Amino acid sequence: MSSRSHPLESIRARITAACARVGRDPASVRLVVVSKTRSPEEIRAVAARGQSLFAENRVQEARDKIPLIADPTLTWHLIGPLQRNKVKNAVEIFAMLHAVDSLELAEEISRRAERIRPMPVLMQVNVGREPQKSGVAPEDALALARAMASLPGIALQGLMTIPPFCDEAEAARPWFRQLAGLRASIEAAGIDGVSMRELSMGMSLDFEVAVEEGATLVRIGSALFASA
Ligand SMILES: *Cc1c(COP(=O)(O)O)cnc(C)c1O
Repeated sequence: MSSRSHPLESIRARITAACARVGRDPASVRLVVVSKTRSPEEIRAVAARGQSLFAENRVQEARDKIPLIADPTLTWHLIGPLQRNKVKNAVEIFAMLHAVDSLELAEEISRRAERIRPMPVLMQVNVGREPQKSGVAPEDALALARAMASLPGIALQGLMTIPPFCDEAEAARPWFRQLAGLRASIEAAGIDGVSMRELSMGMSLDFEVAVEEGATLVRIGSALFASA
């Protein structure tokens, strides 16, 4: 397959086009390649095309796989839920945790990260209020942000969401807009030590809509690997 037609390039082009539609700087959006279930060889092939930011959804899989990839220039994010007994490993492996949704979890992260560096985290918000999904309820997000601000080993940097599933990308727009609005209201509260610069939203089916609505981190797996 020629380099021009590799899905990584077409996804980047689609992000750039979505930015252009709403007057955003493409540099304000980072592509997070979701490499869960993918082999070290598949990941290396994407890295060889200049992609350095990857994400896994399970600590154990990341812990087993990252050493096999053996590329210290890559950066890893955790996008899946985190169990308390995996926090120590997660703090060592990942540069950012996207799915922090309780004070108890944040406290454990803080305790483990404190002596290393304040751990960059995002608060996961359950915009669709789906009982099976992780994430804090939208009305509880501000209070959790305030509580997290007091933890020395936590650097809250923004919000993340996985909206209710729909195979029509446009249907996700109101959810993305809601997350962006929530971010603005937390930002307006001016909490010391809390940044709201990141909005982690948008996956293979709906990332262009997410970018139009302000995403700074788009998490893309299948669109990249399925056709690679
Ligand atoms: C798997 C996963 C993604 C990527 O989904 P695709 O539809 O494969 O792009 C994004 N975010 C989270 C939290 C995931 O678990």
